[in-house]
Parts: sequence; structure tokens; C-alpha cells
Amino acid sequence: MFENLQERLGAILNGLTGRGALSEADVSAALREVRRALIEADVALDVVRSFTDRVREKAVGATVLKSVKPGQMVVKIVHDELIEMLGSEGETISLNAPAPVVIMMVGLQGSGKTTTTAKIAKRLTERQGKKVLMASLDTRRPAAQEQLKQLGEQTGVSTLPIIADQSPTEIARRSVQAAKLGGYDVVILDTAGRTHIDEPLMVEMAGIHQVSAPHEVLLVADSLTGQDAVNLARNFDERVGITGIVLTRMDGDGRGGAALSMRAVTGKPIKLIGVGEKMDALDEFHPRRVADRILGMGDIVSLVEKAAQTIDQEQAAAMAKKMQEGKFDLNDLAEQLRQMQRMGGLGGIMGMMPGMAKMKDQLAGAGMDDKVIARQIAIIQSMTPAERSNPDLLKHSRKQRIAAGSGTDAAQINKLLKMHRGMADMMKAMGGKGKKGGMMRGLV
Ligand code: GDP
Ligand code: MG
Repeated sequence: MFENLQERLGAILNGLTGRGALSEADVSAALREVRRALIEADVALDVVRSFTDRVREKAVGATVLKSVKPGQMVVKIVHDELIEMLGSEGETISLNAPAPVVIMMVGLQGSGKTTTTAKIAKRLTERQGKKVLMASLDTRRPAAQEQLKQLGEQTGVSTLPIIADQSPTEIARRSVQAAKLGGYDVVILDTAGRTHIDEPLMVEMAGIHQVSAPHEVLLVADSLTGQDAVNLARNFDERVGITGIVLTRMDGDGRGGAALSMRAVTGKPIKLIGVGEKMDALDEFHPRRVADRILGMGDIVSLVEKAAQTIDQEQAAAMAKKMQEGKFDLNDLAEQLRQMQRMGGLGGIMGMMPGMAKMKDQLAGAGMDDKVIARQIAIIQSMTPAERSNPDLLKHSRKQRIAAGSGTDAAQINKLLKMHRGMADMMKAMGGKGKKGGMMRGLV
């Protein structure tokens, strides 16, 4: 399987050590494996070809650093190139236009347009304090307009009142008018899809585009879309003109090859990813994480790289000793949490190790996410040095003070203390068995 890509590349290129530069034949051998990994991840064939061509150009003749194995060197080049092709970090929805800013959602039926419409509306309302109006232009599916209305009620976002027998363009026009009259900042148009791209769909989308003049046109696509991704993205981009892509169902087992395909053919940024059915299950797009996932392996090279940057060897040794002696206080916990943050948070670490996606979900299910990590660090920072080294001091009044200082509450502090106690106990047990630095080793 492709989890072994690193190994296989290593085997192919191991003979190279000491030669100093990667030759064409060696790179070609390695790229055959990369090709297979990309195809397995459902990257469109054309895109696979252009990608491997680009990598070949960069890799042939590249110097093999002494400190890395040649196989790792190729993997690193592949990985860097993949990240570059996937686009830049931190693309967001642009609201940089006169109000009401129109956002038009397009895509095939079932891709997640309606759900994503509500997720985006909720986010703009809650995080940016925007007044948002949502409108369903889906007159094809009987319950579609009702579905959006319900999501509006659930999220507390306004929806355009439903009037029977209006055409999509009529509803689009009415949406913009209502948004203007109602003083809305943003109006999101949720359109109808089809099971396949066809001419009537494109004509309908072009019509809606014409009457509503959207500032953003977001193509919503299922991340499990395979070879069709290119066709899908190209058609919507050529016929309607998209400004960005939202990939849904990234919470599933798919490897997300569609991200690379769609980005490659349209050049348009992937702005958000859907990671579940809930209204908060919307994330920023991180090219590095998706690159790791497409390659389908723990990205050992970058993990080692990142770890080397962030982990001070001496600190690690000191930590290992403390663990062994069962002295793991809140200072140590804070240090661990910071290290996790530096390595790209939970997603960053977990995304790098094969099979860790499930565990990340579990942690997230237990309420452990990157925001929680930041909060826990804030709590520990609000403690006095004495409290950090001796958590037993933390009685009610001290907790009140820390809660006020960190903008949290006693329940969150208790949760943190409980987690710390659990970890300390576990380490004491590990220490007893003489496993030095087991946890650190687990991280790197
Ligand atoms: P539309 O036809 O494009 O409007 O698609 P819907 O928004 O109605 O979504 C179709 C189904 O996909 C619904 O059951 C959604 O809950 C589900 N869905 C949408 N986005 C995601 C996602 O990111 N992850 C998961 N697991 N399900 C999603
Ligand atoms: Mg819909």
C-alpha cells in the first residue's frame, strides 16, 4: 500500500548515497511510485502527468543532502511541489465589495451547497458580525427551499421568504432587493444542482449570475469526486466563472485528490473545507495537510524537520527525566501544549501520521481541538509559578482568579487539571517501567 511509499522510494534510491545528485533514471523510478499514489488519491490523470513533469524538472540534478536519505529527498521535493500547486494558506471569502455582497454557491446536486451556505452564513454572522440573508434558488427539488429555511432557523440566520412558482432568476433578483432594503451586509444564493453537468444547468447559473452580479462564486464539490473533478471545475469556471472552491466531506476517508485536480485546472483557490454535517464543521484550507493526505503517508520528512525546529534536545531530555521520575507539572504540560501548537496544532500533528485522522476525530469528539489547546495554555499562564508546580494549591478562590485572568471558567480549569492528572499518572506508570521519554518519542 501507499503507506509504504517512503519505504519503496527509499529502497529505489538508497543506492544513491554519496553520489551527490539525483539522476534522471532514479527520479523516474521514484516518480512511478508517486504517480501511483496520486492516482490512488483520485487525482485526475492529466494533472498527475503535469505534476510529475514539474517534479522531474526540479528533482533531476538536485543535490542530495548528507543528512537525509535520497528517498526522503525526492519525497520532500514531491511534497513541496504539491503544497505549492495546492495554493496558498489563508484564503478567505472576500467581502470587499459594496453591501450587500452577493455570494453565489454552485455545484452538483448533493455536493453540499445548501449545508455549506448555512455554515458560511453562520460563520460570517458569528465571527464577523455580519447581517446575512440566505436564499434558496433551488426550485427543482420540492423540499430544497424548506431545507434552507430550517437551517436558517437552526443557525439564527435570516432566509428569504418563500414565494411559490418563482423562477431561479426571479428569486435571485428578489434576494438582492430584499438584502438592499433590509440593510444586509451579505446575501448568499444557494442554487440548484444536477446529478451531472448539463446545458440547462449552465444556462440557469449564467442567468442567476447575470441578475445578481455575485462578488464570490463558490464551487462546492465533494472531495470524493474522482476523475470528474477536472471536467466539473473547468465547466463551472468557463461557463459561470468561479472565484473559489469549497471542498466538502473532507471528514471522510477520501484522500482529497480532487483538491489538486480542481486547483490545477482552474487556478482558483480552495477557500474552505467541509468536515462534517454540523453547522460548525467548516475549516480553513491548509495545503500542507492536504498534501500529506494526498500522498497518503505520514510525512516523515517534514515531521522530522518541524520537530527539529521546535524541540530543543536538551528540553526533551529534561522532560524525559521528569516523566520518569513522575514529576510532570503544569509547566511541563504547558510546554507540551505549546509544542503541539508550533507543530501545526492537532491537525498538523495528526495529519502527518498515517491512521491518525481517526484519533484526531476522537480527540475532537472529546472536545480537544486547537482552540482548546490555546485556552489551556492561557489558563496555565494565568497561574502563579507555585500553582504551576503544585496544582494541589488550586482551591476555589484561586480558580476564580485564574478563570478571570484567562477568560475561562472553573469547569474548564477543572477539565485541564483532570487531564493533567491523567497524563501525570500515565507517565508515572511509564516511568516505573523505565521507558524514557516515551511520549516525546511518540511525537517525533
Ligand atoms: P446540495 O444538494 O448541494 O445542496 O447538498 P446538501 O447541502 O443538501 O448536502 C447533501 C448531504 O451532504 C447532506 O446530508 C449534508 O449533511 C451532507 N454534507 C454536506 N457537507 C458535508 C461535509 O462536509 N461532510 C459530511 N460528512 N457531510 C456533508
Ligand atoms: Mg441544496
